[in-house]
This record gives sequence, structure tokens and C-alpha cells, in this order.
Amino acid sequence: MQNSESVKLFEKAKQFFPGGVNSPVRAFRSVGGTPVFIDKGKGSHVWDADGNEYIDYCASWGPLILGHANDKVLSSVEKTMRNGTSFGAPTRLENELAELILTFNSYIEKIRFVSSGTEAVMSAIRLARGYTGRTKILKFEGCYHGHSDSLLVKAGSGLVTFGNTSSAGVPESVVNDTIVVSLNNKEAVEEAFKQFPDEIACIIIEPIPANNGLLLQDKAYLQFLRDICTKNKTLLIFDEVISGFRVCFCGAAGYYSIKPDIITYGKIIGGGFPVGAYGASKEIMSSISPEGNVYQAGTLSGNPVAMAAGIAQLTECLKPNFYSDLEYKTQVLIKGLTKNTKHNFKIFTVGSIFWLAFTDKEHIKSAEDIDADSMKHFKVLYHALLENGVYSGPSGYEVGFMSEAHTMEDIEKTIVAFDKAFAKL
Ligand SMILES: *Cc1c(COP(=O)(O)O)cnc(C)c1O
Repeated sequence: MQNSESVKLFEKAKQFFPGGVNSPVRAFRSVGGTPVFIDKGKGSHVWDADGNEYIDYCASWGPLILGHANDKVLSSVEKTMRNGTSFGAPTRLENELAELILTFNSYIEKIRFVSSGTEAVMSAIRLARGYTGRTKILKFEGCYHGHSDSLLVKAGSGLVTFGNTSSAGVPESVVNDTIVVSLNNKEAVEEAFKQFPDEIACIIIEPIPANNGLLLQDKAYLQFLRDICTKNKTLLIFDEVISGFRVCFCGAAGYYSIKPDIITYGKIIGGGFPVGAYGASKEIMSSISPEGNVYQAGTLSGNPVAMAAGIAQLTECLKPNFYSDLEYKTQVLIKGLTKNTKHNFKIFTVGSIFWLAFTDKEHIKSAEDIDADSMKHFKVLYHALLENGVYSGPSGYEVGFMSEAHTMEDIEKTIVAFDKAFAKL
């Protein structure tokens, strides 16, 4: 496969950016080789700088549920931007996107738009602390919540740990208030409440953990978290930056019928533009400035062009059968990939999210259940897939996304590409 242009661009990028990229996983370190520089996308396909064409399952890491350069999103964006791209003043488009979301999502009553998932989560944590007057937060190993300081922590040894930063530059004093426990572990959560009664402001979880493999939790576990939070006057935050508008319009909250206290959104909500949001009941949201004393602001928050893209995309998501069609296509793909294979892998899936793991296990529900050694198979598979015209996130810990734009022909081609790639293992 020709990739001299990507190689050239990457060499140049390395002069400008640390590791040649503006977000680490793009550097291909976990699969090796040179990142594919993308020139353009349309529908389910992308084209790289060397002219190679791929069927894309990365979808910009989830936002592009309609595929690339969707005509309705583009025309809405174009129309809006001709009237100016930013005012730093309220616009009617913010109302429109908020109304669209709040009308069809009974899990939140008020919302605030920000510019990324990281910002949404960071603000939600501050809100939880401000509202409860407590300091500690509890998160799960294997869930990603963006790169704000208090969430860059990793589990240590022991049931309940805190204070292990996962990045240089994060002071221990900041993460000393972040408790880390394993997913799918009730005992650890109970123990944390025993050790820190009346101190935990919130539990934050990806209700569909999809940033470190796809670590699907039982509904009973999420319900357990709901109940223990209620009992301890701790807020439950669902970080739905991936799952929101992905598994259904009401996200994982709707999928499992469990009402968290705060929900964060990102990715799909912005139609491919930088948008995040957090929402909660009117009462909780009244703590946010200028109504309350929890400060949060943004120069480009509620940006009109981004709002226009979000409105166009979410309007499509509300069409009848939108989510069932996506799920059906995902099932067809998975059936095709898992039939007649002699290889030892499983595909875990919910809605239009899927994750391939080389494992014998029936379920993988926590980060410790993932066999790090098996990633060597993924490396081989990944490059063979690229050569056969299939692009996905360059790490075995990343999930794939089906979009509305994927056709049955794409899916058949993907199955053939996988068959060829598996032959290389
Ligand atoms: C992507 C993601 C984030 C971070 O969002 P950014 O827009 O990359 O800052 C936070 N939480 C979850 C669950 C995510 O998937």
C-alpha cells in the first residue's frame, strides 16, 4: 500500500507537534507504523493523503453518527456561518438545540453548552461538589472522562485507592480527593462509602464504558450505584459523551431506564464540531452561575455554527427506526465477522458500538479482565485491515462505530477485508 505522502506529512508534523500529533492516540504508537493522514471523508468512507480509500469505523471517535460530510449538516452549517461565526451573545440556535434535546430527553431539565467533553465533565464535577458541599469524587478504573486534572488517576493495589496520578503535571493534592475502584465491583463502592461517609460528592461512570474496550455493565450494577448514591446523598453522574444519542436519543440513561443526577454529553451532540454539554434537574442546575455560585463560562460556548450542526444531526437521529437500523447493520457485520472463524476472539456490542477482543472470556466487565498481551494480535490485524480498505481507531482498546451512512455493500466488503486480515494472524 502506498503511504509515502502520509510518511512525508508525519515527518513534517513531528517538527511542529509533540509526537507529531494534537492528540496522543493519533500517533499510532499502539499499533506501530505511520498514522494515516486523512484528506477527506464522505458518508462512510475516508480518503488519505495518498489517495487510498477506506470504509471508516472510527467516525472521528464517535461524533459522526450520520457519516462524514452529511448534506443536511453541511447545508445547515453553511447557512449559519454566512451570518457570522461567533458573537459571544445568546442566539436562537442555542434555544433550538436545547429544546430539541430537552423535549425528547426526560432525564434532564436544564442544560449548559460547553466546547468539549472534557469541559463538560470538568464542569459537572465542579457542579456536584458545589451542590453537595463535599470534596471527594469516585471514579472507575477503565472509564475515561477527558483530561481534566482530578480525573487523570489510576487504580493502585487494593479495593479502594486514591492519589495515583496517571499523568505527570497533576499534583497529588488534586487527585487525593479522587477515589478509584474497579468496574462491576459492589464491595469496593460500599467500602469507599464506609471509609468516607458524608464526604463523596459524586460517583462518575461511563454507563456504557467504551474508552478502554467495551466494558458493558449489568443493569443491576448501575441500579446499585443509583441506590447507594441516593442513600448517601451523593450525586450520580453518567458521563454520556460517547453513549449519549448513540445507543438511543436518551443515551444510556434511557437505554437502562436509570436516572442519574447529572449527565454529560459531547461527540454526537456537536455534529462534528467542538461541543459538549451537561444537564441535570432544574434544582441542581440552579447552582450554576449566574443563577448560583458554581462558576463556569466559555467564549465559544453555544457557538452558532456548532449549534447548527448539532441541530441538523440530532434532528436526523429522531427519525423513526434510526437507532434500530444502526443496530441491525451492526448485528449483520458482527454475524459476518464471527461465522466460520477459527480465531479466538469475541465481539462485544451495544447498539451501534462494537469492540473486538482476542479472548476466551464470555464477558469482559472490568479493565483487569482485558488481556494486554492479546493486543499483539490487534496490531497485525489493524495493518492488514488498512491494506484491505478498512479504517478504525488505531488501538485495540478502541471501539468501532456504525453510522447511518454505512451500506450493506460496505458491510460485505468489511467482512471480506476481515477474512483476509485474519488470514495474516
Ligand atoms: C471523548 C470522551 C470524553 C472527552 O471528550 P473530549 O471532547 O475529547 O474532551 C469524556 N468522556 C467520555 C466518556 C468520552 O468518550
